[in-house]
Amino acid sequence: MKLLVTGGAGYVGSVCAARLLENGHEVTVVDDLSTGHADAVPPGSTFVQADIAEAAGDLLADGYDGVLHFAAKSLVGESMQDPHKYWQGNVLTSLRLLEAVREHGTPRLVFSSTAATYGEPDTVPIPETAPARPTNTYGATKLAIDHAISSYATAHGLGAVSLRYFNVAGAHGAFGERHTVETHLIPIVLQVALDQREQVQMYGDDWPTEDGTCVRDYIHVTDLADAHLLALDNARPGEHRIYNLGNGTGFSVQQVIETCRAVTGHPIPAAVAPRRAGDPATLVAASDRAREELSWKPKLADLSTIVRDAWDFTRARQQG
Ligand code: UDP
Repeated sequence: MKLLVTGGAGYVGSVCAARLLENGHEVTVVDDLSTGHADAVPPGSTFVQADIAEAAGDLLADGYDGVLHFAAKSLVGESMQDPHKYWQGNVLTSLRLLEAVREHGTPRLVFSSTAATYGEPDTVPIPETAPARPTNTYGATKLAIDHAISSYATAHGLGAVSLRYFNVAGAHGAFGERHTVETHLIPIVLQVALDQREQVQMYGDDWPTEDGTCVRDYIHVTDLADAHLLALDNARPGEHRIYNLGNGTGFSVQQVIETCRAVTGHPIPAAVAPRRAGDPATLVAASDRAREELSWKPKLADLSTIVRDAWDFTRARQQG
């Protein structure tokens, strides 16, 4: 397929673009490099550095089989302090993209949605039928885009799939996580292992979980990328399907740090810090729908494998 990948210079977008190329697809990446890196765009793809809202129409006029839409602002804390950046950058940009998709009759769209659309869950693991009550602006903007995509599928026959990511981690060879401002747990812990930070702060140890630290469902970025390939194959005209992507197993912040100690051999000092605003205690996915309808099978579900791949990537980058 001839595919347009928005945000293909970012973490998940670059890994997905690499997997698409490995599977014989033709890939154009469009990214404004506001948070991505030009050298993260996989070789073999065509790279267009542009504002997606402005460039989408001209690009899609060339005739594409599908769009994978990764480009987004994705920092929860920032989204609470600067909501305009998120409503503008996520919702308005996506609407412009959807209009270009409609105008040029692009048949398929795969969208990076998020577990943050659910907010504080009533039941864990969380199925797709759980109420969507986001507790932060980031999640609210992603949910708004999900609603817009549903309308476009119904009204204009778009075949769309939204994938709700839980905690994405790990690396795919040379493609991995390298945020300028790092807020995610595993990369932060690995910075301590590289002596780039003194210690990890554990945000709260009085949560209603077994060891008192927050529990999350970590999914390997390669497994996540493979779900996008399956979503493309399974998109049906006029339907918008939503799938959770996680392994269905929760690990606490303490367990993640322990695993990082075992993988890196570094003592990784950790200290308890105040809770972080907007954090739910436990987020674990029920991904049965993706397994049944997309035949998706995560192959790298083991947390040590996820951490080891992230560690190999981080060390390789540090060594230049
Ligand atoms: N976390 C932490 N210390 C950090 C970064 C994150 O204790 O320096 C915790 C955070 O509160 C959450 C979990 O680790 O419970 C995963 O956070 P992350 O930001 O990686 O992903 P999120 O679940 O927010 O998408």
